[in-house]
Amino acid sequence: MNKHNFLYGGRCTMPREADVPALDIRNISFRYPGTVVDALKTVSVTIMPGERVALVGPNGSGKSTLLKLIIGLEPLQSGSISVYGHKATSCHHRVAIVPQRTSVDWGFPIDVRQVVLMGRYVHLGWLKRPKSDDLEAVDKAMEMMDITHLADKQIGELSGGQQQRVMIARTLAHDADLLLLDEPLNHVDITTQELIFHTIEKLSEEGKTAIVSTHDLGLLPVHFNRALFLDSEIIADGTVSEVLTAENIARAYGFEFHGKPEEHQWLNG
Ligand code: ADP
Ligand code: MG
Repeated sequence: MNKHNFLYGGRCTMPREADVPALDIRNISFRYPGTVVDALKTVSVTIMPGERVALVGPNGSGKSTLLKLIIGLEPLQSGSISVYGHKATSCHHRVAIVPQRTSVDWGFPIDVRQVVLMGRYVHLGWLKRPKSDDLEAVDKAMEMMDITHLADKQIGELSGGQQQRVMIARTLAHDADLLLLDEPLNHVDITTQELIFHTIEKLSEEGKTAIVSTHDLGLLPVHFNRALFLDSEIIADGTVSEVLTAENIARAYGFEFHGKPEEHQWLNG
């Protein structure tokens, strides 16, 4: 990979043709070193620009692993992943991840503005001073997530919902076309949830693509146009109502599910 391409954009631009998938995953299997079972088994999926995809499945079903492989945080062991028609590894600047909140060290001494500015490094290059457009992007992202008033606070002082907004603002500052959000709705307040959904919808209207892993089955029908049910392999892929059948849910979560998902708010969280 050419370092220049990675930092500044290079050839991996967003294609104008609407029929080039935002993400094309072919036959990936993955096993963590030292373990005896596959975390992912021959997963294939194609996602088009503008889609809002919910990635659902029980704990340990491989959701985080799949997102990490897409962004290159774990190395591919088999199969292929392409982003906007390019090899995923040459497209990191088009992809941004909001990591699972539990995987972030919130005790790290850094303030909100610095975290959001980290989203710009992919454009800026390390050790370069931020320019006015970087600072503008940071301000705009903080405004969108309603955290401007928290800019100088240490991230450890924030509530769970505020921390989640900071991580999303960092992703917005990155200005990626494919956004991966790993359980962004866990333990956040309703206002933050609504802000997250509103942001995803807005990005989707701009042609950007979002994949959101979540357990909140009740919220899916309203906010996502597609769902993937993962349990090491893809069990179901389709509209939310096609995917959230009682049979799929019983298979993945081990209990019977009756009625409509939106009536089961107790599933959330
Ligand atoms: P999910 O995000 O759906 O809860 P994960 O992708 O985190 O699932 O995990 C999938 C499987 O891989 C689980 O069995 C988990 O225990 C295992 N796993 C995850 N991370 C590691 C790791 N760093 N080392 C070894 N096994 C892991
Ligand atoms: Mg996970």
